[in-house]
Amino acid sequence: MTLYALLLIAHAAFANDPSVPAKPVEGSVLAMGIERLAATDVAGTRDEAKRVKAALAGAEDAHLVFGKRGFELSRPGAGAIPLSDSLGRALDSMRQYLDLGQAPSPTSDELRDAFLSRAGVDAVRAVFDKMIDDAIDLDGRRLVLEVGGEATMEPSPRLRYIDDFARPVLHEIMAARRDPAALRAIYDQHPEEMKTIDDAGTLKSVLGVLDRMKARGDAQDKRDALLALATRTIAENSASSFTLEPAAQLRAVCAQDWSGRYVGRWHTHPPHDEPAGWGGGSEPSGPDMQNAVDDGQFLTIAFQPDGFIVYDASVLGETKTIDLNKMKKIVYRSDDWRRHFQERHDALRLAGKS
Ligand SMILES: [Zn+2]
Repeated sequence: MTLYALLLIAHAAFANDPSVPAKPVEGSVLAMGIERLAATDVAGTRDEAKRVKAALAGAEDAHLVFGKRGFELSRPGAGAIPLSDSLGRALDSMRQYLDLGQAPSPTSDELRDAFLSRAGVDAVRAVFDKMIDDAIDLDGRRLVLEVGGEATMEPSPRLRYIDDFARPVLHEIMAARRDPAALRAIYDQHPEEMKTIDDAGTLKSVLGVLDRMKARGDAQDKRDALLALATRTIAENSASSFTLEPAAQLRAVCAQDWSGRYVGRWHTHPPHDEPAGWGGGSEPSGPDMQNAVDDGQFLTIAFQPDGFIVYDASVLGETKTIDLNKMKKIVYRSDDWRRHFQERHDALRLAGKS
């Protein structure tokens, strides 16, 4: 389980001025947002953000407005700065995200009612369905990968994704898993992602060993078996970890509209593909609990063959204790769920055999 520190924008610190005109962005939010967008190209607007930052010169009284000409920054006593639609939307989304902090987070009771509502169950089911769609096919066995993001309640739970930055490269690795030269090329092209995917250096050292085996004339099938073991190992390690990094979080914040009440971060413990059906996801790990202690709510949503368990970690954040027994469990079970996922499992097994 690897988790990097989040961007962690302190919600309450920014949103406190309800009196400004339509679509306002308080000066400090604006300054922070422009700063972030000028530092990374998450919204594809880095150059423009740099120009706007220079033009604003730290003005704390600017507001983001949406007028006849689209988004612009208006400043009392100075000319408006027109913005591209991309930059305007990114800043507006950031404002919406920070505004979530004005409403209190849901209580544990509200959270339980929301997750056990019809819409809540559907939201969780959609996440697990998508995870199974995106699973890695290990010669017939599906390796289902952890996902996560940030959740809001509006009033049903909305599980918004933050993309794990290394996942696209993991899929590339698995597509090239029988081709040492292609694997080496992926390694060279994506050193940052590979540090996360192959943190123990397993695949890297095996690629070196394969060269030596080839040089001394070892059989092809022996080399293939070693490579298969190495790629399977790193895939299995990656499947049970989900990496949140600040740029990915910022990208997710800027890419969508935000409303409702802020719940916190969430991640899943995926189903395991077993011969007869899906095995359940595990309980929250030590690092999961540490995460909640350090940075507040971190939901663990564990798949079960007949439902799911949402582990609500809010108490850990409040009491700063790592204790599985202190987590509140929201348990959902139904025959309908069991039937649905069993059918998916059986269909995938049949497809794997044909
Ligand atoms: Zn976890």
